[in-house]
Amino acid sequence: AKNGGRNRFSFVERQMDEALRLRKVVEDDLRKAIENDELVLHYQPQVEIDNYTVVAVEALVRWPHPVHGMIAPEKFITVAEERGLIIALGEWVLRRACTDAMRWPGVRIAINVSAIQFRHRDFVSDVMRIITDCGIDPTRVELELTESVVVKDADAAEEAMIELRAHGVRLALDDFGTGYSSLIYLRRFAFDKIKIDRSFLEAAETTGESAILIHSIVHLGRALGLTVTAEGVETHEQLEFLRALGCHELQGYLFSKPVTAEEIDVILAQPGTL
Ligand code: C2E
Ligand code: CA
Ligand code: CA
Ligand code: CA
Repeated sequence: AKNGGRNRFSFVERQMDEALRLRKVVEDDLRKAIENDELVLHYQPQVEIDNYTVVAVEALVRWPHPVHGMIAPEKFITVAEERGLIIALGEWVLRRACTDAMRWPGVRIAINVSAIQFRHRDFVSDVMRIITDCGIDPTRVELELTESVVVKDADAAEEAMIELRAHGVRLALDDFGTGYSSLIYLRRFAFDKIKIDRSFLEAAETTGESAILIHSIVHLGRALGLTVTAEGVETHEQLEFLRALGCHELQGYLFSKPVTAEEIDVILAQPGTL
């Protein structure tokens, strides 16, 4: 048992070394990567449940690191937030996504926004400047926010949201169901859409507790006049379950993984591929 304990410890140690090493890499290299245009966006289609028409694509950032390979957003977004790089990163994502979206008329572009980025006092004017620069119709831009955006300074968040919506920008509440006070936020803040978190579908059961929760979320969203999107749809069973509930839009590996902009060009050129 003693031996096993020691092995476990060294395993944990190795994991920590790995985490610290990665953090150092991120801090040192991310600023340069943003400046040198080294990050890339992949896009994942969101389809209408009735006919699988692609109505939106969500931009998901990736970092192809020359030494460490492709780094997933979960590995560097938090560090970017801690090191004050998230503003530059977020602006880069907004500009790249809106620019790419000009190739996809009629399709909305969904962009993830970090809470720190959203709370920055210039956020609304930065977004609107980028939209104007790119020449994109603001009603095609959909910002995906999480509850963490509104928990700190609800009044400021509300003001920014009202201003964005007045410009026509759409707002989605991401990871719905994973926070604390979702119902209060839904009543107070003017979202256009809720995205049911992937963790609810992961159970993959169409009966039981997860199913009851998904059922309630879809009905709540519909009752409030919101678009309801399910993320992480992987099976036909989930698809039929969500259809029966009246969910509006779907996103997940069943239709497409996040792909390059060029692959989105191909998907949109051949309606009915998904
Ligand atoms: P999210 O916004 O909840 O995005 C959905 C995540 O689920 C993506 O992971 C996507 O690749 C993955 N996914 C989609 N469909 C399926 C499926 O059917 N099965 C499974 N197992 N997974 C699926 P990804 O790209 O690694 O992004 C992780 C998170 O990183 C995102 O979660 C988002 O919170 C954050 N993120 C990504 N891009 C950005 C960005 O540009 N800015 C900010 N602030 N955050 C970002
Ligand atoms: Ca998202
Ligand atoms: Ca999610
Ligand atoms: Ca998320």
